[in-house]
Amino acid sequence: MPGPVDYAKIAIMPDQDTTEWYDAFKRKEFLIRQCKDCGHRFYPPLPACKKCASMNVGWHKIEGKGTIYSYIVVTQPILAHLVPTVPYVIAIVELPDGQNKDGSKTRIPALMMDDEKDCGIGAPVELAWDDHPKQDYKIPRWRVSDKHAKGVWHFGG
Ligand SMILES: [Zn+2]
Repeated sequence: MPGPVDYAKIAIMPDQDTTEWYDAFKRKEFLIRQCKDCGHRFYPPLPACKKCASMNVGWHKIEGKGTIYSYIVVTQPILAHLVPTVPYVIAIVELPDGQNKDGSKTRIPALMMDDEKDCGIGAPVELAWDDHPKQDYKIPRWRVSDKHAKGVWHFGG
């Protein structure tokens, strides 16, 4: 298991574009953007559609399941709250409910709860949550939902 994350070292400070997104964390809901004009779903939660540039954007609450598209193992922490966590895996998770009409898929970065040996490309994952010790937010984490899934590819064989 990765070490603990020292969330006390970070403060969530939403701005006008991210307040709704962070508030959803309090309800353990992870939102991605959905354009109200063209339907495109995307991440991060930018104020304009990545497909058609419309500012008429809303939200889509993800189911909380996905597949690892790629991943890295972080051994040298850059952020203070992740110093006790190394080594840890950051995965790019592809969301089944992030499928777009143009064939693109919405992918999000994910701090994994699992060790590198349990993470691999194609591994099924699910959303989990950590508590923030000083704020009312839950913090999204991800974990492998089936460590024996077939067809999962690992770096290094
Ligand atoms: Zn759009």
